[in-house]
Amino acid sequence: MVGGGIGGLTAAWYAARRGLPTAVLESEGMLGGQVATVNTLDDWPATGEVSGVGLAIAMSEKLENNAVEVSHEAAVEIKRSQDLLLVKTEKRTLRTRRVIAAAGARLRPLDVPGADALRGKGVSQCAHCDGYFFKGQDVVVVGGGDSALQEALVLAPLCRSVTIVVRTRLCAKQVYVERAAGAANVKFIWDSEIDAVLGNGTVSGVRLRNSKTGERTDVSCAGVFPFIGVLPNTEFLPTAIRRDDSGRVITDERMRTAEPSIFAIGALRSGFSGELTAATGEAAIAAAAVTADLAR
Ligand SMILES: Cc1cc2nc3c(=O)[nH]c(=O)nc-3n(C[C@H](O)[C@H](O)[C@H](O)COP(=O)(O)OP(=O)(O)OC[C@H]3O[C@@H](n4cnc5c(N)ncnc54)[C@H](O)[C@@H]3O)c2cc1C
Repeated sequence: MVGGGIGGLTAAWYAARRGLPTAVLESEGMLGGQVATVNTLDDWPATGEVSGVGLAIAMSEKLENNAVEVSHEAAVEIKRSQDLLLVKTEKRTLRTRRVIAAAGARLRPLDVPGADALRGKGVSQCAHCDGYFFKGQDVVVVGGGDSALQEALVLAPLCRSVTIVVRTRLCAKQVYVERAAGAANVKFIWDSEIDAVLGNGTVSGVRLRNSKTGERTDVSCAGVFPFIGVLPNTEFLPTAIRRDDSGRVITDERMRTAEPSIFAIGALRSGFSGELTAATGEAAIAAAAVTADLAR
């Protein structure tokens, strides 16, 4: 398994239960992936509130009980050597018969003047981690999808105001749209993009450009939270594996890529719907497909 997010952990668990010797490579110090950055997972059909970190810890413990080997190192390359795959990390090369690529995706950074220089000085991509630093202040959230609205709703009880800058229209689930519309200190600015993040040492505002009129306006704020899509983590995979226009890996319905013995699931897969339930479903399909493949 390359990736210890919710997809990789689930696939490892199913593979181990099917009797396959299983290892997980995770580049970060902690397991859980994107889920581990979320305080409360509300967008899934569980009873009561579930903490993302709590879910990741519970799943990691299940792996320990199923003798799955977990290593905190990044896969940097996969090569073929006869009927084996060689998975290279910075420290060593692992030999394996099958790989499930579950390295997920990272948040797309805001690529405008000022954004990189002010990262960590007002520009953040984690409301759960950094929201408290903006208590009582004005913040701007960029984006119109589920993550943007979810994070805006985390910030709303803490901040004086939350302005959501939307390029065209919202593509978030109705439940988040209604909650954001009902929050007294959340407002929307439509048809606009961020032209620059302003500030000297710390964020003092953003410059917006109206995509219809071209007009530029400055909005003062102490924090900027961009949620403008994700980039799939596929750099370690062979270039022969087919990707779609957004760089996500194309698979068949059994999660097989174009490269024999390499499977792909979750946020790096073309057609992934975005929910953690989809990542776990794809993980179950891939574990079954790997087992069947090895039994041939
Ligand atoms: C703010 C936010 C809130 C969300 N809330 C919800 C929600 O309420 N409900 C819901 O259903 N979904 C939610 N999601 C979406 C959900 O988190 C994702 O669908 C899910 O995490 C995808 O799981 P994954 O395992 O495919 O990828 P990821 O979670 O991205 O995990 C991939 C893992 O692979 C690791 N990795 C990357 N590259 C390498 C490498 N080269 N070698 C080894 N390891 C590597 C990463 O460090 C990471 O741990 C939310 C997402 C965000 C960002």
